[in-house]
Amino acid sequence: MAGNEPEKADAEDDDEDWMAYANAGFGETNYSLWDEVDDTAETTGDEDLDQGSLEVPDQLGTHMEEIPRAPSPAGHKHLVRIGTCDACLGRVGGKMHYGQSMEAAGKEVRQAVLDRDAHLASARDDVPLCPFCENLFEEVELLTDIIFDAVQPYELSRLQLGARFPKDQTESEDELRKRFGAGGSEALKAALVNAIARRLNERLDNVTMVNEKPDVMALIDVLTLTVDLDVRAVYVYGRYRKLERGIPQTRWPCRACKGRGCERCDHTGLQYERSVQDLIGNPMMAALEGTEHAFHGMGREDIDVRCLGQGRPFVMEIKEPKKRAFSAAKLTEMINQQAGGSVEVASLRPSNRKEVVRIKDTPAEKSYTIRFTLEPMNAAELAVLTAPVDLTDGSGKGRNKKRRRQQRGDDASDRTKPLDAPIETPATRPSDEAMAKMKKAELVALCEEHGLAKTGTKPVLIERLQEALPPASEVFELPSDEVIVQVIEGLKGVKLAQRTPERVSHRRADLIRKRTVFESHTPIIELNEDGRREVEFTLRCESGTYVKETVHGDSGRTQPSVASLIRAKCNVVWLDVGDIHAD
Ligand SMILES: [Zn+2]
Ligand SMILES: [Zn+2]
Repeated sequence: MAGNEPEKADAEDDDEDWMAYANAGFGETNYSLWDEVDDTAETTGDEDLDQGSLEVPDQLGTHMEEIPRAPSPAGHKHLVRIGTCDACLGRVGGKMHYGQSMEAAGKEVRQAVLDRDAHLASARDDVPLCPFCENLFEEVELLTDIIFDAVQPYELSRLQLGARFPKDQTESEDELRKRFGAGGSEALKAALVNAIARRLNERLDNVTMVNEKPDVMALIDVLTLTVDLDVRAVYVYGRYRKLERGIPQTRWPCRACKGRGCERCDHTGLQYERSVQDLIGNPMMAALEGTEHAFHGMGREDIDVRCLGQGRPFVMEIKEPKKRAFSAAKLTEMINQQAGGSVEVASLRPSNRKEVVRIKDTPAEKSYTIRFTLEPMNAAELAVLTAPVDLTDGSGKGRNKKRRRQQRGDDASDRTKPLDAPIETPATRPSDEAMAKMKKAELVALCEEHGLAKTGTKPVLIERLQEALPPASEVFELPSDEVIVQVIEGLKGVKLAQRTPERVSHRRADLIRKRTVFESHTPIIELNEDGRREVEFTLRCESGTYVKETVHGDSGRTQPSVASLIRAKCNVVWLDVGDIHAD
């Protein structure tokens, strides 16, 4: 199917930064043992060398420029004399046959030298540290064993090696090799990594040595003779449906203890016991024997919003997995069974890091079904909902800020219940008739609320309120069913101006965005248990639209809104994400 092709292309392009560490050529294709040739062929051997940096016997110091490079016999003799080990003698001697080991080639070179100059037989004893590799090639078996043991717990098919050398060591080896070694000799780092890779290749079944996209990267530190393993994450694509409200998409650390675990969170470290991330990630992590998981969703829904329809695309990242292969069917069954109907996954398949970027960057249109109740609105409230959206005026933020902060900061509040969205209007007083009917205590409380003196008789209190505050404005009648249906159906094609809601302003820039409503249909109006009307409808809108705000108006920060158009306060009861129109 053509639809599969982009996935494949993604996988091919999933290039990573491992090459920064590894310069060993272990690609399955295009690999040449002589990758270094171009580099070294240009060196002619008469570079201006810092002779002091070369570890050569003193008496030769003044004759350096007369010593020819390998593979000349005099060059070989010099290499033997300065204490070069067999491996390096083979590597830089220029006599290695195809398929021959460095050591074998080096032994042949040494023998040829000793046949002419028997007194050099003790050269390695006289200079026990190889000037090229500092005897590192003697550790090849040890390093092979360390890596072999380290990767045993992991299922892998692609292994990449890298090596970390002190910079001065590779630099001085480079100089020495280009001065005395044969042109095209393999550099120390590549040669060491290749030697270890060849041995591992013989010992590890079904593992390919690679130089890109490994399952595991083994990084050798030649100073400490240790190996660091970097086990690449496994990525799993899928779609989830959230069938129950009150579950956040990602895990939230407990606000009281910041995730350390305390009495309030029952020592779970979590603000909410469950999350979509954990419900999917924990069984996956157990199956793949990973250490951690990260969740990448194509957008998110609020904690009190369900996600239905085809479900929301996501990629789960399982870190440091011991297993990499999985059966999508078994994994799906396990996750769905353990989630007990609160969350369901489908369409699981292997993914990659590249797809995480795609998932994150895809703007997705969504369908929502939303239900709200009606409450009478007054003229002052309508004025707030229809005042020009403006970033400079604070949109009534100042006065009621404290109260709103308290609401938001209430840790114990049940986030599964819809928050009502009060419209912030300037303070008013009850009508004169209403005040005449009030008890004195109520008037005192009213004065206190508005920061007025609370002494005096009833008439004094009433007069004080009349002087300080304007009367409450006209209350509109609730709209008829016909008006509501007309307004909802008329939302189609409307461009909304949405200022960032205060509820998300701590993590989003305060901006005004234009968002389009593409569809708005099937309004249902029902009487609820209290005999009040509840309205439900479905709308499809541009990615990034704040939907609840589109209904209640967010104190004028979203315009127009259903509330401003029907001239009634709208309290959202619930919101469901239907289909996500992407993927
Ligand atoms: Zn050596
Ligand atoms: Zn806690």
